[in-house]
This record gives sequence, structure tokens and C-alpha cells, in this order.
Amino acid sequence: MGLLEGKNALIFGLANDRSIAWGITQAMRAQGARIGLSYAGEALERRVRPLAESIGCTFVEECDVSKDDAIQSVAEKAALEFGKIDILVHSIAFANRDELTGPFYNTSRAGFHLALDISTYSFVALARAFQPFMPRGSAMVCMTYHGSVKVAPHYNVMGVAKAALEASTRYLAYDLGPQGVRVNAISAGPIRTLAAAGVSGFKDMLRAFADMSPLRENVTTQDVGNAAVFLCSDMAAHTTGEVFYVDSGYNIMGVAGPEEKV
Ligand code: NAD
Repeated sequence: MGLLEGKNALIFGLANDRSIAWGITQAMRAQGARIGLSYAGEALERRVRPLAESIGCTFVEECDVSKDDAIQSVAEKAALEFGKIDILVHSIAFANRDELTGPFYNTSRAGFHLALDISTYSFVALARAFQPFMPRGSAMVCMTYHGSVKVAPHYNVMGVAKAALEASTRYLAYDLGPQGVRVNAISAGPIRTLAAAGVSGFKDMLRAFADMSPLRENVTTQDVGNAAVFLCSDMAAHTTGEVFYVDSGYNIMGVAGPEEKV
């Protein structure tokens, strides 16, 4: 029997088969969860529908998370379709490309608002809309990156958005704890996806990461998917408000080791 048998999972942030959301979808499906998917806009529909079909998922809804009424509408449709939602996955981020290069002090007011609205506030809004339909034992999870606590050159406003996302995770965990709903964040190492391509110097970040992390390997969307399964399963019944690193151990390093590999 799968770890998520009998659970319904709503996953936000699928763009294509390289998305972290797809790694999570596949891992959760493999563990027996019934899946519902949401994507950002019409342009992505032709990529998302075939992926949904490939796993027998029939609940596929467009939702721009900058709109509260769109979020409310998906939550209500999902509740009608599934009866209850046991797992909510937020795998969404956005910042203007020109805010992800050069000095952080050049971040515009509008760009700051946009990045924090889409990448951070949307998790709060989703949590609010879905929590009435989430029974005891349910779990929410969002995706973050180590640029929230340490400087990752060019990550800029997204680092600030991730810091706010991690703090939001803790406040949501406090709010929803009495209802038996857990809230955690996964801090993933760099993975080549559509969103990552927007960060200037991402390729160098990817290479440096593999060189410096204790495991000397990059992480995959499957790794993140497996961690999400654990955090949203009853195996993690008393884990909430945490930032769970899936990064080959990169975050424990203070200084790069000698060149030679072990
Ligand atoms: P991705 O481009 O596949 O996913 C980002 C998703 O955000 C897309 O599906 C996009 O449509 C969605 N999105 C953007 N604006 C939206 C809006 N207004 N409404 C609804 N959806 C919207 O890239 P990804 O790397 O899989 O990113 C998923 C999450 O993982 C993000 O939070 C990202 O910051 C985080 N993350 C990524 C990495 C990495 O290296 N790729 C590392 C750590 C954390």
C-alpha cells in the first residue's frame, strides 16, 4: 500500500515535465494519491493536459494565483470534485527577469511587489482558501531555496521572497496546527527548470553546487518529489513549520573543500 493511499493532492505550479511540480506529481501518484493539477495560464495548457492524461488525472484547472477570486473558485471546484483535500502543494515563483541580475538595490518597487505577491503571498492565499476543506492529518508544502538565508548572487528579490515564504510557512503552521494541518517548506538545490532559467548565472550556480555539496551531486525533481511525499504523509505526523533541505547537504558547508573529489 502506498504512503498516500486514500489522500487527495492538489498541486499548483506545473509548467512542463521539467517542473518540480511534475516530480512531486509523479512521486505522489506512485504512492497512491489522487491528483488534481493547476497551472498558470492558457499558454501552458497544451503542455499540462497531456501530462495530466498520462497519469489519469482529470481535474486540471487554470488559476492565476495573483487573483483571489480565481483561487477561491479552484478551491471550491476541488472540494466538490474530491470531497476533501489532504495535500496542498505550492510550487510557484515569479520575478521579472531584469530583477534577477545585477545589484539587488536596483529592484524596482513594482518588481518587489510582483515577486512577493506571486511567490509568497499566493501561498498564504491558497492556505486560506483550501483550509476549510482540509481534514486533520492534512499537509501543505511549498518550495524554497537557500538564497533566503545566504546570498546567492543574482537571486536578489527572489531571495527576499523566499525568506518571507519560509516565515509564512511558520506562521501558517502555527495557525493551522490546532486543526491538525501541517505546513512545511522544501529547500531544494538548483534544478534546471523554466523558472531557474530566469536567474542570471544559473549554470555556474549549478556547477558550483555539485562541486561543493558533501554528496557532490545535483538534486533532481524526483528527489524533491520523494521528500514531498514524506512530508505530506502520516510518516511526518509531527513535523510542521520546518524548512526541509533537499540539497545534497550544500547548506551545511561554510567553506569550499579542496579540489580533489573523494
Ligand atoms: P517552473 O517554471 O517549472 O515552475 C514555476 C511555476 O510557477 C510555473 O508552473 C509557473 O506557471 C508558475 N507561476 C508563475 N506565475 C504564476 C501565477 N501568477 N499563477 C500561477 N502560477 C504561476 O520552475 P520550478 O523550478 O519547478 O519552480 C517551482 C518552485 O520551486 C518555485 O517556487 C521555485 O522558486 C522553487 N525552487 C526552484 C529551484 C530550482 O533550481 N529550479 C530550487 C529551489 C526552489
